[in-house]
Amino acid sequence: MPSYRTATLIGSTFLFIALSFLLSREPTLGPGVFPLYGLIIFWSDFRRESEMPVIFIFLVSTAGLLLASQSAPGARAALSGEVFGIWLLTWALSTARARASKDQRDMAVEQLGLETQIRDDERDLAYYKSYSASVGGETRLRRDLAESAKSLGSTMDAGEVQRRLIAILTSRFPGSRVTVAAAAGDDPLLDLALRRKGPVLVKDCSADARLRMKGSAVAVPMKVMGQPAGFLRLESDAPGTFGPEDVRTADLFATMAALGLENIRVFEQVNERATHDPLTQLHSHKSFQSRLQEELLRSGRSQTPLSLIFCDLDHFKSYNDRYGHQAGDHLLRTIAAILAGFARPVDCAARYGGEEFALIVPNFVRTEAVELANRIRQRVASEPFVFQGQNTNITMSLGVSSFPQDATTASQMLRVADERLYKAKEGGRNQVVG
Ligand code: GH3
Ligand code: MG
Ligand code: MG
Repeated sequence: MPSYRTATLIGSTFLFIALSFLLSREPTLGPGVFPLYGLIIFWSDFRRESEMPVIFIFLVSTAGLLLASQSAPGARAALSGEVFGIWLLTWALSTARARASKDQRDMAVEQLGLETQIRDDERDLAYYKSYSASVGGETRLRRDLAESAKSLGSTMDAGEVQRRLIAILTSRFPGSRVTVAAAAGDDPLLDLALRRKGPVLVKDCSADARLRMKGSAVAVPMKVMGQPAGFLRLESDAPGTFGPEDVRTADLFATMAALGLENIRVFEQVNERATHDPLTQLHSHKSFQSRLQEELLRSGRSQTPLSLIFCDLDHFKSYNDRYGHQAGDHLLRTIAAILAGFARPVDCAARYGGEEFALIVPNFVRTEAVELANRIRQRVASEPFVFQGQNTNITMSLGVSSFPQDATTASQMLRVADERLYKAKEGGRNQVVG
């Protein structure tokens, strides 16, 4: 089968030869037949052959001029007009074709531009969608963080901070198990976090036989005041549940909980400093005063007795002078330990002042308190108080007052106990007056 192009060429050539043969035989038919040459031009233009009309216009013009030169003047004029007409036809067709192909090219360019724009728009849309999703997630995270900060910071109970942290993360990671462990113990995942000193993400636990578990997990070590304070652990049965972004989130919430715990710890320390004497760790003067008020109210309500024992070291100034201030401090700490040893959990042992101590003993009538005071006195008197390898000794004078026998208010209790202590001093020290 001849190709499309060859078929056009053969067809056109055949028509040209046929017409030329006819006209060479019958030149008189010239003006009538010559316009049929125009069919070749139409045909090749129709077949979209751009160079063929050029070739044939040349051949047709040559044939027309040859024919005209051999014809009578009338036919010659007609043939010249027809050659000119064919030229005009060729020009018209090629102009129309050029315009059509230009329009087509313009359309193709426009289509290409539109397609590129659509592709760009689709890419922008995808970008904005992912951007809006990430911004949405970020906004949610910030809102959750603000709410969690409020929740984790509004309790003074360390256990409650832990429970709230678990509740927050459980709602953020539904379907996951959230736990808080005090120590790594024999948990291989927590051990990994301990050794790495940072959060650990395991996307597929079954890939690591040492973990002895399936699914995915996250472990975050927690620190309070720079000290290790347990681990946060997230676990899911499905592998690949958690990603790096989730580790960051878990770490943020764990840090927030740690800050809450730090607040509690600081508050406890400040409170401890306010209520306890730093040298002896006994209750401070202030704490003793409020405790005495409370205990008196309680005893008043429950109609039960209450006693107060006031203690003052004998000649402590001389002790300091003889052994030094450091030895004196050491002795005060030992005395405090002795008093704390005599105190029951319901009692309150306090450092009232320099070398003065007080003991509140609820439910003790005066005789019971005097008996206790004597035991304390004897113990102090017999204590070797070893300081830097040297045995030292000291004695103590004590005064006892009781509710309701001696007094009904805190100031009365203190005054009576102090007066009796003074009597003990006057009576020769190392004794109890009650
Ligand atoms: P008395 O038997 O009359 O009570 O005589 P005293 O020497 O114990 O009484 P005084 O009130 O004259 O002296 C109390 C001494 O306690 C004076 C002070 O140097 C000493 N003292 C008070 N607070 C401390 C302390 O924190 N550490 C030491 N080492 N000594 C203290
Ligand atoms: Mg004193
Ligand atoms: Mg004294």
